This record gives sequence, C-alpha cells and structure tokens, in this order.
Amino acid sequence: MIFTETLKPENGNKVLMLGNEAIARGLLENGNGFSTTYPGTPSSEIGNVMARDGKKNGSYFQYSINEKVAYETAYGASVSGLRSSVFMKHVGLNVASDPFVSSVYTGVGAGMMVMVADDPSMFSSQNEQDTRRYADLAHAPMIEPSDPQECKDFVRYAFEISEKYSIPVMYRTSTRVSHMRAPVELGEIKAAEKKDMGLKSIRSRATSIPSNARILKNELLHKMALLGDDNFFSSLNRIERYGNSRIGIITSGSSYNQAVDAIFSLGVEMNVLKLGLTNPIPQEITAQFLSENDTVLIVEELDPYLETKTRTYRDILGTGAVVHGKLDEFMPWSYELNPEIVGNGIRKMLGMEIKNNSLPKPASRPDFCPGCPHRSSFYAIKRALKLAGKSDTAITSDIGCYSLGYYEPYSMGDSMLDMGASISIGSGISLATGERTVAFIGDSTFYHSGITALANAVRSGANLLVFILDNSTTAMTGQEPTPEKDAVVNGSEFTGIPLEDMIRACGVKDLINASSYNQKELMKTTTSALKSTGVTVVVARGECALINKNEKALREKYHIITEKCSLCRNCIDDFHCPAIQENPDGTIYIDSSECDGCGMCAEIYVCPFKAIEVVN
Ligand code: SF4
Ligand code: SF4
Repeated sequence: MIFTETLKPENGNKVLMLGNEAIARGLLENGNGFSTTYPGTPSSEIGNVMARDGKKNGSYFQYSINEKVAYETAYGASVSGLRSSVFMKHVGLNVASDPFVSSVYTGVGAGMMVMVADDPSMFSSQNEQDTRRYADLAHAPMIEPSDPQECKDFVRYAFEISEKYSIPVMYRTSTRVSHMRAPVELGEIKAAEKKDMGLKSIRSRATSIPSNARILKNELLHKMALLGDDNFFSSLNRIERYGNSRIGIITSGSSYNQAVDAIFSLGVEMNVLKLGLTNPIPQEITAQFLSENDTVLIVEELDPYLETKTRTYRDILGTGAVVHGKLDEFMPWSYELNPEIVGNGIRKMLGMEIKNNSLPKPASRPDFCPGCPHRSSFYAIKRALKLAGKSDTAITSDIGCYSLGYYEPYSMGDSMLDMGASISIGSGISLATGERTVAFIGDSTFYHSGITALANAVRSGANLLVFILDNSTTAMTGQEPTPEKDAVVNGSEFTGIPLEDMIRACGVKDLINASSYNQKELMKTTTSALKSTGVTVVVARGECALINKNEKALREKYHIITEKCSLCRNCIDDFHCPAIQENPDGTIYIDSSECDGCGMCAEIYVCPFKAIEVVN
C-alpha cells in the first residue's frame, strides 16, 4: 500500500493499514524529522514505508548498519532538535541496549520514540524475550497500542511524553499488533520542525560521566514518578465495563484484543482496565480499578510484567483485591495468547470448568525459494566437505535466510545464536578444539555484527573458514539494501562499501571470490580452502531469487526428460528445490509455475544423468 501517494492526507480519510504502516503514518502526522532502523521482522514495514515516503514528507530516513548505530544516530538527531524515531525487533534492542539504557538517564532533546516489536510464539525469531522488561530495567516510559488506529494515534503521546519529560519513550508492539490490518482514520501530515536545542547547552546532561550520571539517576526516578501521576496522558488508558460486576481484567497491547474476545465468547460480565501506558503504571486509574474490583486477572503475553507491578501496587494500596495471573498459574508464560487460552484463565477465576487448550501447532518447516543461491552454495559446499572426508566439521550459522541450511538435506549449521555469532562461535570452537571450523554468514549480517567478529578471529589466530553468502540484500525482512550497494540516500550519492575492502581491513589475507551458481568452482574453492589454515574467507555471490523476480520469471524453465531420468532422486532428495516434485507413480517432474529457471538442477553435480534440460 502506498498511502501517502494514493490518498490526500486530509482529516477523515480512512484507509486499511497494517499496524506498522499506521505507525509510520503516525510519525509523519507528528512532525517526525529523522528515522533510523536495522530491519527486523515484525518491525520492518515501518522502515520500508519511511524509506519510500519519509523524504517527500520532510522526514530523513536511513537503514543503519545495526540497531546500536541506528539508536545512536537517532539520538544524535534528537539532541540536535529533530523529533526522531528508531525501529527494531525485540532482539535488536539487545544490540541497542547499551545506548538505550544510558540515554534514558541523559534524556533527549526533541522527542524520541524507540519502537520495538516483540515476537510471541517466535514466528521469525530465535527467542520470545519480553521487551517490557527493558523499559522497566532502564526506567523508560512505555506505550503499547492495541490496533492500527492506536498505532497511529499513540505516536503523538510518545513524542509528547518524550518532550515533556526529556526522555526516550519505548513504543512496544507485538507481531499481532504490527501485522494486524484495520481501517485507520488519517490526520494531516505535519512537517518536521527543528527545535533550537544546541547540544552545547545540554552537555552536562548529555554526557553521562559518573559525576553527571549520579545526578541524572535521581532525576530519572523523579521523572518516572511524576509520569505515573500525570493525568495529562490519561486518555492512553481506559476502563471498559461489560455488565455489572466486581471482577476485572487488566491488560494491554495485543492481549487486550484477546481478552475482549474471550469475554464476549464466554458471555461473562466483567470490567477491563486497558492500559496504553505500561511503564510507569498509571497510578490513579489503576488504584480506582483495584478498588472497584474484588478479583482481577492480568491478561498479558510472555512474562508476568503487569502482574508483578499490579500485585506490588495492590500491596502498597492495601486494597485487598485478589490478583491472578501467571505467578499463580492462571495464565501461561509462553507463546501468543488467544481467546481460548484467556477464556480458560477467566473460567479458572470464576470457578468454571477448564477446557483443554489446543497446543500451538509446531511451526511448519520453511525452505529456500526455488532458484535461491543459498541452496546451490550449501549443496556444493556439503559435497566438497564429504569428498574431503570432512563431513563432521563443526559448522556455525547465523541470522538470515541461510539459517534454513540447518534443515535436511543440507544440515549446514550446528549452531545459530545471534547476529554475527557464526564467526565468533566458530573461532571459539576452532581455538578450543584445534580443528578447522566452517562459519556461514550473510552479507547484511556481516556488516551488522560480523566485522568485529572477523577482526577478532584474525587477531586470535582462529582456524576458520568463513563463507559470506552475499545475495545482495537483507532478504528475509523485505529486501532492504545492504551497505555494499551504491545508492542514493536522501539525495546524496553513496558509493557502496565493498565487502572485500571490509574483509581485508579486518586483517584477512586469504580471500576468495566465488559464484553461488557455479557448482564446480565453489566445490573446488571449498576443497582448497579446507586445506588452508588460519582465517580464510570465501565470498559466495548469487543474487536473491526474489530480486527482480518478474524479470527472472521470464527466464527459460527446466523440465525432466523422462526417458533419461534414472529415478536416482538426487534432485529431489539431496538438492531439494521445491519446484521439483514427485508424481504419485514415483516419477519426478518440474512444476514450471514454481521453477525460477536458475538452471542449478541441470548441473551434472545435481543430475548425473543429464536428464534435466531447458524447456524448448
Ligand atoms: S531450474 Fe531447477 S533448481 Fe532452478 S528453480 Fe527450476 S527446478 Fe529449481
Ligand atoms: S537427478 Fe536426474 S536422474 Fe536423478 S531423479 Fe532427478 S532428474 Fe532423474
């Protein structure tokens, strides 16, 4: 959807939007002047919209090299007087946590919004950490919208709180809120204004040396206490009454939607305290709710964050309201909620019969796209390892599409932890075992966090063979550009930073370029690189199958000549392109609607019987 191009930005227009698109629209309606991100699902659409629509609406945008850099760059814009924002997924905040926590002490200049999207049930993530803990740890205000309209509208409060209290504001969503689509009433787009901040004038606050930080800590606690009592932001929170009862639910974000669904499907009378400000807990409305209800269920995903705060506040108030949640096993600690799960929490609270919850379905196994260069690389490298008698080599992998190499038939990944870790873990393994280790990392991930790991591997004398699988994009999150590409960024020409320059700058002497789509060359290169010692880097290049997809769809398709096919099954079992399918009678065919025309299956290393050819 291209909402700023297809709709006049007038009050009253309603348009169907994803939560993430609505957040971007909210930024443009609230004078956001500067945005940064490192793309990460489920937050990535915000950056994609701002990349497309930011500049023409007077808002600078950049894809930063990683979340820490993104955070610090946006902070720099904020202390220069521009409303700024940064977006990331939950694990991205681990990377940006260093500047985040300290910037909450120093405060900001113009408003700064830190958007973080959690991923309960781990649809596209390696863990389901609860970002709300970070807001608590850092003493940062936190806002949680529940639907696309709130995603847009609450941006205003994020900037207002940020500016009133001079503090970065966390804006937390989850997959369901970021990817929910609903009508959103638009307001007017507001041009960014640069406020006269002057970093020099706030240097004693913006410099967190210990003598300043000691003062700033107490100021920070004071700000948060004031915000907890601040009724100016009371419209972020509301009490809803469904019938007449003294039983309630306290909830926020996506969980609110599940709670209301459960109340309606059970047909019970209850009150709901919906919090939009979840750090600090708004004092007045929470106290009112706890006094109006005898029993309260906390409905929230992941950790008992609201529950712990509510129980503590209840004890301070001495209201006597009974609070249930995760700590007394009324609600689960893992995965997304749904009305069924919330319904059981309510049933338990009301003494009703509990129904069996259907367990979350195991995630279906994802696969490389037809024509993906990673399939070809893994196939060739696996074959080379086998021919060299090195199939038991420890293989570390990293975050990105190529992590799918973990699955059969490739089995190319014995570990995967976090961005850039393939090189560091591989170094550790090689240093601990004395064995040559293989690491896989993508181009975008290498720029993000692989550079420091590679320099460290060289410095420590690791015996490591690193494959940088360069598909020319940050593929998994939406094909965002990497620093390697020449680009025009906000009107300025940027000459890409070549991977080879970065690799050599890390001290690597043994650097080899290869093509992911040349099986023979990649096998030869791998065989010789396995015999080397020290750090060797092979850059295997092959453009992501999704780039220029329409163009590629016009490529020649391949088919299997039945008479030549020996039914050896190598193409289907070992190469495993999804376009190669099996008929009920066991014969094998290529689904031309799926075939990308990459031609890899026709290589003799995949089909030794030369049974796969271009369709005439
Ligand atoms: S040419 Fe072969 S390997 Fe490439 S997409 Fe088509 S079927 Fe798959
Ligand atoms: S690899 Fe070739 S011979 Fe073997 S099953 Fe596939 S098409 Fe047939």
